[in-house]
Amino acid sequence: MSANAQVVTRFAPSPTGYLHIGGARTALFNWLYARGRGGKFLLRIEDTDRERSTPEATAAILKGMDWLGLDHDGEVVSQAAGAERHAEVAHQLLAEGKAYKCFATQDEITAFRDAARAEGRSTLYRSPWRDADPATQPDAPYVVRIKAPQEGETVIRDQVQGDVTIRNDQLDDMILLRSDGTPVYMLAVVVDDHDMGVTHVIRGDDHLNNAARQMMIYDAMDWDVPVWAHIPLIHGPDGKKLSKRHGALGVEEYQAMGYPAAGMRNYLARLGWSHGDDEFFTDDQAKEWFDLSGIGKSPARFDFKKLENLCGQHIAAADDAALLHELEQFLDVTGASALNDEKRAGMGAAMYCLKERAKTFPELIEKAHFVLADTPLEPDEKAAKQLDPVSRGILASLTPHLQNASWTRHELEAVTSRVAEEHGIKFGKMAGPLRAALAGRAVTPSVFDMMLVLGQQETLTRLAQASVAPEQD
Ligand code: GLU
Repeated sequence: MSANAQVVTRFAPSPTGYLHIGGARTALFNWLYARGRGGKFLLRIEDTDRERSTPEATAAILKGMDWLGLDHDGEVVSQAAGAERHAEVAHQLLAEGKAYKCFATQDEITAFRDAARAEGRSTLYRSPWRDADPATQPDAPYVVRIKAPQEGETVIRDQVQGDVTIRNDQLDDMILLRSDGTPVYMLAVVVDDHDMGVTHVIRGDDHLNNAARQMMIYDAMDWDVPVWAHIPLIHGPDGKKLSKRHGALGVEEYQAMGYPAAGMRNYLARLGWSHGDDEFFTDDQAKEWFDLSGIGKSPARFDFKKLENLCGQHIAAADDAALLHELEQFLDVTGASALNDEKRAGMGAAMYCLKERAKTFPELIEKAHFVLADTPLEPDEKAAKQLDPVSRGILASLTPHLQNASWTRHELEAVTSRVAEEHGIKFGKMAGPLRAALAGRAVTPSVFDMMLVLGQQETLTRLAQASVAPEQD
């Protein structure tokens, strides 16, 4: 690629299942690379395997990318739709003598391999049709094979793995067109990447072997080879292949668990890529910093603790309105009831104190109980224990002071300390009953934050309700 050409990356998932965590990371790396360089990020659905590809999987992939905020440029490309163009390239190579028609039957190929095995030779198929005189060609079904280089070496200059050298005598004359004239997947990938102007291919290292074969097509067509970066796969915390137990789930499951998308992006970026010691960063920083040289050679290990930690930091740093919007999306995808106007306003006002120390949306919602629960509150078991007769008495004596207080944090702190002192207790002793009265819970934001968010009237109403002894049954 010339120095001033625009960067074009792509994500090319096969729509055979949900967008799993490895695929999401591949998409993210390509997105960051392009977005950080004013380039383009394209999306191609590799749907040539008609048996295994489903529209539901395509929809799940698009939804997952949408949630992660990985926007792509242009239309979604369907690989299957390009079959004619892929075949055209094979025919061009045929016409140029860089590919040939092979009439070998399956039985002949099997016999070749059996003999090679018996004689201790390589079982790579060598077709007798490669150099046959076209006049000798039968009127029979054939496949089109590329003429692989037979001597020398193929070197893949990989940005992560370094130079990977393959001896050309290990490459066979790969099939380009099947006997029914349909193009093979490997051809489709190269033609699409070329036609889409892809300059950088970042993908899992399970595709490294394909790169050597794909090189043959680039060379035969005299096309520029893209920059390749084959990234190590993700492993579980124990270093073993990632399994469901480890977190090999569809990204929509992470959304349903309540991880914010920004935290997820940050975590996925750190999964196999690093920028010094930076753990927490914004999208803008990631776009600016992301480079292929920061990708590690050994498999990254998936770690839920780290994910949660970063998500907590992103929730704390988020803009209140944006966080509320994402929270409402979370309620929607999990089938929870939507916020009415009053609760939405309450959440908006409370967000500043809810977002501290919440690692996920369920944790944030738990802290928001004082806003979300209907009144009169039904204290949970721990909160109910705080409302013993002595505590209720203290709350009752606090009430007239609060009725006369101006509703500022400073004054609320002063009033409550004074009443605690009058009762000969530390404020900490009063905080439990206050939490119980204002939220019906033992774990809440600070009592002053709750009072400020609820306002004077509602605070007094809740104190009055909590001061009444529960009925004995
Ligand atoms: N469709 C392939 C996959 O989902 C990716 C191919 C590529 O990136 O070249 O694994």
